[in-house]
Order: sequence, then structure tokens, then C-alpha cells
Amino acid sequence: MKAANSRGSAPGSSRARILVVGGGYVGLYTALRLQRKLKPELRQGAVEIVVITPDPYMTYQPFLPEAAAGSISPRHVVVPLRRVLDQCKIVIGEAQSIDHSKRTATVTTLATDEEGTGAIEVTYDELVLAPGSISRTLPVPGLADHGIGFKTVEEAIGLRNHVIEQMDIASSTRDPAIRDAALTFVFVGGGYAGVEALAELEDMARYASRYYHNVTPEDMKWILVEASDRILPEVGEEMGRYTVRELRGRNIDVRMETRLDSCQDRVAVLDDGSRFPTRTLVWTAGVKPHPVLAATDLPRNERGRIKCTAKLAVDGATHAWAAGDAAAVPDITAEAGKECAPNAQHAVRQAKALADNIAASLRGSPLEDYAHQYVGSVASLGLHKGVAHVYGRKLKGYPAWFMHRVYHLSRVPTFNRKARVLAEWTLAGLFKREIVSLGSLEHPRAEFELAAGGRPPKESS
Ligand SMILES: Cc1cc2nc3c(=O)[nH]c(=O)nc-3n(C[C@H](O)[C@H](O)[C@H](O)COP(=O)(O)OP(=O)(O)OC[C@H]3O[C@@H](n4cnc5c(N)ncnc54)[C@H](O)[C@@H]3O)c2cc1C
Repeated sequence: MKAANSRGSAPGSSRARILVVGGGYVGLYTALRLQRKLKPELRQGAVEIVVITPDPYMTYQPFLPEAAAGSISPRHVVVPLRRVLDQCKIVIGEAQSIDHSKRTATVTTLATDEEGTGAIEVTYDELVLAPGSISRTLPVPGLADHGIGFKTVEEAIGLRNHVIEQMDIASSTRDPAIRDAALTFVFVGGGYAGVEALAELEDMARYASRYYHNVTPEDMKWILVEASDRILPEVGEEMGRYTVRELRGRNIDVRMETRLDSCQDRVAVLDDGSRFPTRTLVWTAGVKPHPVLAATDLPRNERGRIKCTAKLAVDGATHAWAAGDAAAVPDITAEAGKECAPNAQHAVRQAKALADNIAASLRGSPLEDYAHQYVGSVASLGLHKGVAHVYGRKLKGYPAWFMHRVYHLSRVPTFNRKARVLAEWTLAGLFKREIVSLGSLEHPRAEFELAAGGRPPKESS
């Protein structure tokens, strides 16, 4: 195996370096499988696995709506990479660009930022590219200033705190315009991220309102804006229609074939002419491949995903692999030309197949094709409410919600996380729901600054 050098590694080392860019679904599962499969090589020092990722944890994104609702605490939605990947070297940083012809990634870390030394170069022998995706935004005036996404644990918890804070503002203001804007929540995008986030937060706010003397569920306006003529395409047409009925039955204003035109000055203007003054605009209108892919010399398709073969190797390149949201992998179980959808179901399975193929290629064994037929999806619509279409079976209400929990409990990585999440759900069934906003956690110095005569605490948004 070819030698790999980089700053900090011994020159002339004969250790093959596998560089994994991204510590999400694909990054975690690929590295985990590699550290198991390549145990002898790791023990002999013939191989090293380096994972570069901006956060020291993997986020189990399907649990974000439940974290926003307060059913799972934020710590249990994430998986600590250093503990799980104890045979790998974890570097907290971001790949800025990759020159695969030179087998080199340019990386910034927390230390390079502090030292002001600029990016470092990390060489490798095998590259696994898995930076996932980012929110796909449109040039909607005011969106960048007032919108928030729903892809990270910070966003989910920030939104939870924000919604409860808006209820507190509405409860204490005498200005009807402020109250109205505080109690109006607009979500754009009807995929599972948007629908689950809205449904869970509405359910939580509805519950919380019983502890307010002057805020009722009827005072709140929850609006879902979707550009196409259906929501939740992941569960199929019939279950999508059921979801619309269920949400409307809860007084949620679901507007299909409608777009957000602007949200300047905190007024959401829709293309059907309606205007909603609001302090909450959540943008979940799809994802696009991570922009770092454009800073590589690897081939991309028209949507910006890395072109891959069914073996999860980058098309036309050697020693480069990709999977998950960042990769265009042919779906060989479907008609020709179709690629695997960007979802966790594929990401997890691709990661395992990818790790097997890397191990096989290092050992000179034949590689396998990745093949997985989409089995459907489950979605939670609040406590005890859900919708599912899995293996041809359609479920609604409590059974779907229960299935959602069972499925995700079986999927969340590590026994440790499964046990903690189960314990939380069990306790939540015995006690009342948490309804406090800990938004002040986002400004931990505010109290001290005030005491020390510094700036006054930041006004809430
Ligand atoms: C709210 C929500 C709910 C969802 N629910 C479901 C569901 O129920 N079922 C389902 O199948 N799918 C679901 N998904 C989709 C699923 O989570 C994604 O398809 C999956 O996470 C993709 O895995 P990935 O490894 O490609 O990307 P990610 O898991 O996003 O991981 C990408 C990683 O790369 C890191 N990274 C980014 N840039 C760099 C860089 N420059 N250098 C190094 N690292 C970088 C990121 O920080 C991240 O750790 C949901 C998504 C969301 C947002």
C-alpha cells in the first residue's frame, strides 16, 4: 500500500491512510465498519483511518423533530464520534477543497482558525467523500435574514426555545400586532423534515398553551407552504393525503401549490397574495449537495452530486469513494438512469457496502454492487400521531407513530443511545411534558455582562 504523508505524520511512513470527509450517517457507519473489518491491518499499523468533520458527533436527524418537541434531550440525538470510532483519528475541522490527482485535502480546523496559520494539507491513499447536503434555498428576499433551517440539533433546540419564547411574548404583550406575529409560525417545504418539525412543534405548543392564562391553541397560526400539489411524498400519495387531512383537522393551514415570495421585514408574503407578519420562518424546502464537492476535481452530475458507480467508487477515479446525500449512486433496483434518493435508508446501507468494498480493494478481492429497494417511510406527526407506508403496509395514527418509534429506536446507532432514548420515552410517559424555553443558554454571558456593566442582554428575536 502506498505511503501517505501529511503535516504531523512521520515522513516515509508505509501506513495507508483512509480519509473520511464527513462524520454523519455515511462517515460514521463507513468508519465503524472499516475499523471492524480492518482490525488486523489497524493493529499492525498498516492502515489508519482519519475522519474529518466539523462536529465531534454524528446527528441522528430523524430524531430532530422529537428533540424540538422535547421528547428526546439533545445529547441523546447525537452520537459521540471519539467514543464510537475509538480506532480512528477524529479531526474536528472542515475540508475546504480536495485535489484527488495529488491525493490531498485542504483542511481548516479549530486550531488553524485560532493560530491564523491557514489551512493544512492532509494527504491520503483512499478518499471517502461524505459531506452530505445543505438546505436548498432560493433567492427569496429576507430569507437569509429571517429564516432558519431544520438540519442540525442546534436548529431544532433553537426552534423549540424560540416557539416557547414567542408564546411568552404573546402572553405578556398588550400590542395585538406583536402578539399576532409571535403566534404565527410559517414552515416552507412539505417533505419529512418540514412536516415532522411543524407537527411536533405544533403538538408541543398546543400542550404548553394549557399552562398560559391567555394563549389558547386557537390563537396560534401554523402554516405549511408547499410548492407542489402533495406533501410527504416519502409515504406515498394516499398517506400524503391523509397527512393533509390530519394536519388541517388540527387547524394547521396547509397551502399546496403555493410559494413564499418574500419575508422582508418579518412579513411572509405568499404567491397566493396572503401576508403573514411572523417571527418564525422555517425553511425545509429540500436539500442540495454540499458546496465543498464543487471544490474537488471529481466528476459531478447536473445536480452537483458526485458521480458514482454501483460499487460506490467515484466514476472514472481510482481510490475515491462516495455515498449518501453527496453521491449520485445508480439505483440498480429501479429503471435505468434512476439514482438513489438522498435519505438515511440509503446512506446507512451504502456506507456498509462502501466500507466492504474499500476493505476488499485493499485486499485485492472483488467488489460488490450496492442494491437496495426503497422500503417506504415512517413519519411522526406529534405525540401518538403518525403516518407510515412500509413494505406495502399503510398505517395511520397511533400504530404508525408506534412503528415510527420502534423503527428509529432500532436504527439509532449504539446500544447506549438506544437505552437512553428508551428511558426518556418511558419517563415522558409517566410525567408531564417539559414546557420551558432555555433560550438563555444561547447567551450564557448575558447575565454576567449585565452585572459587570457591559452590554445589556440581547433582545429576543
Ligand atoms: C429533520 C430531518 C429528518 C430526517 N428524517 C429522515 C427519515 O425519517 N428517514 C430517512 O431515511 N432520512 C431522513 N432524513 C435524511 C437523512 O438524515 C439524510 O439523508 C442522511 O443524513 C444523509 O447522510 P450523509 O452521511 O450523506 O449526510 P449527513 O448525515 O448530513 O452527514 C454529513 C456530515 O458531513 C459533515 N461535513 C459537512 N461539510 C464538511 C466538510 N467540508 N468537511 C468535513 N465534513 C463536513 C457534516 O457536518 C456532517 O457531519 C432526515 C433529515 C432531516 C434533516
